[in-house]
Amino acid sequence: MSNLQKIGEVKDITRIERIGAHSHIRGLGIDDSLEPREVSQGMVGQINARKAAGLIVQMIKEGKIAGRAVLIGGEPGTGKTAIAMGMAQSLGSETPFTAIAASEIFSLEMSKTEALTQAFRRSIGVRIKEETEIIEGEVVDIVIERSTTGAQKVGKLTLKTTSMDALYDLGAKMIDELVKEKISAGDIIRIDKASGKVTRLGRSISRLRDHEVSGAKVNFIECPEGEIQKRKKQTHTVSLHEIDVINSRAQGFFALFAGDIGEIKAEVREQINQKVADWKEEGKAEIVPGVLFIDEVHMLDIECFSFLNRALEDDMAPILIMATNRGITTIRGTSYKAPHGIPVDLLDRLLIINTSPYTEKDIHKILKIRCEEEDVDIADDALTLLTKIGLETSLRYSIHLITSASLVAAKRKATEVSVSDIKRVYDLFVDVKRSVKYLQEYQDEFLY
Ligand code: ATP
Repeated sequence: MSNLQKIGEVKDITRIERIGAHSHIRGLGIDDSLEPREVSQGMVGQINARKAAGLIVQMIKEGKIAGRAVLIGGEPGTGKTAIAMGMAQSLGSETPFTAIAASEIFSLEMSKTEALTQAFRRSIGVRIKEETEIIEGEVVDIVIERSTTGAQKVGKLTLKTTSMDALYDLGAKMIDELVKEKISAGDIIRIDKASGKVTRLGRSISRLRDHEVSGAKVNFIECPEGEIQKRKKQTHTVSLHEIDVINSRAQGFFALFAGDIGEIKAEVREQINQKVADWKEEGKAEIVPGVLFIDEVHMLDIECFSFLNRALEDDMAPILIMATNRGITTIRGTSYKAPHGIPVDLLDRLLIINTSPYTEKDIHKILKIRCEEEDVDIADDALTLLTKIGLETSLRYSIHLITSASLVAAKRKATEVSVSDIKRVYDLFVDVKRSVKYLQEYQDEFLY
């Protein structure tokens, strides 16, 4: 296996792990008037932050928030990523959503700006509209014969619809379809002109009478008045990044699956932007600005921030949502300190949402939802103990204990996690406070 493929696979594995931690989140859990329900769609508490996030989703849907960005700030484990995931779910699958951690930008494979450009373009959708003509009618006559050279089949089809009688010269593909479907005079058929697909809907009533005479058994339908000739519009959405990759790699479409590392040339992107602008002009496509979520945004450096500032000015910019758990910290690449480690010119563009620490009740509810999500049965007193642990250490630590405690319970062939299972894993896996304490004591013994 080549190096390229290996790197692609490693990236995928981190993605699966991250989705797992938030798999219980199915939306923001807010009602039609944007009021958060206490527990809904896997979301618990954090009422103010969820309300603000719901409002932003509404603005995104109405196209009112282009060129701006959102910052979710709060202590570790207070649900910043969970809220971003909830926003993605409420926007629906048609809206592109890309989630990255700021540290993913720094790699030897490509420059920081290339990595950010790719992330931006993954978050911009192009909805391509295709118009296909669908014609339904009764086959009056069908003639298929070999051409004079004998190599090619040729054919003619006379189709009676309510609005017209159409005579078609048939292409080879359509002939194959008609032969495959055994279409004959008297059949009612549907033709999708774009794909050339032919479907047999039944027999016309007038012809059916002929068949009854000959005793043949056939299905029939009456030609549906007015519905005989239809036009149908179909749409599908792809991201600008997908169009970039398909057009810049020798292996085209397959590059998307193989893990597309390496830089994309600026000329390719310019050409694609031009093409998409033309499609837009001709009414063949529209731009769907999606969402780019950057976690641990304080890990970006000053060059990245300046890139973001400029990229947000673009007409096609997606909505940028960032998260951080830092207060005042140094802006990477400088010796200056700034709120959240973000330069003031970018801070100025931001709508800021804060998450607050959880109450014991909230932690209890989140842990209960996680147990259900992981299919773990837990005794009430064990859940109470786990909640206490979560309150004293961290929510994430107690969530981690669920899986390990259920393995310990399974080992002793119990179907339910008990207090003793929780105690056992609490002793096996230390939380940060205990780990630090242990190392400090160790240092005291050996250092002087
Ligand atoms: P960090 O600053 O460390 O990145 P974070 O604020 O992004 O942390 P999350 O990763 O969102 O925190 O939360 C930790 C875990 O708790 C996740 O599994 C998340 O899905 C869950 N969680 C957090 N808040 C909520 C909530 N309000 N409702 C339901 N689940 C939540």
